[in-house]
Amino acid sequence: MSDVREKAVDEVFCSSCGAIIKKEAEICVKCGVRQRTQDIKFGAVTEKWETVLLLSIFLGGLGADRFFVGKIGTGILKLITVGGFGIWWLIDLITILLGKFTDKNGNIILRE
Ligand SMILES: [Zn+2]
Repeated sequence: MSDVREKAVDEVFCSSCGAIIKKEAEICVKCGVRQRTQDIKFGAVTEKWETVLLLSIFLGGLGADRFFVGKIGTGILKLITVGGFGIWWLIDLITILLGKFTDKNGNIILRE
């Protein structure tokens, strides 16, 4: 049996050791490092899902969805390539719809 598992929707990876901890946890149970709760809260704010979705549909070709979640680097790349010539735009849109889109900290942008 392996103890490697997927993190649940209410869980996040520890910013220090990478252990799976509860999204609400302030301190990692494994390494004792205090989590950057501000960032974790950002990922937990589910109403942003609709904003990200709308940005992706209408301004995805300009990388607006990626800029919004803090992914500046890939946002610029998406802007330059005009949404990866439409392909990247479509992939990101599907990812958001499936509830698998993440912000710069790896927090999933969840649908409410
Ligand atoms: Zn840890």
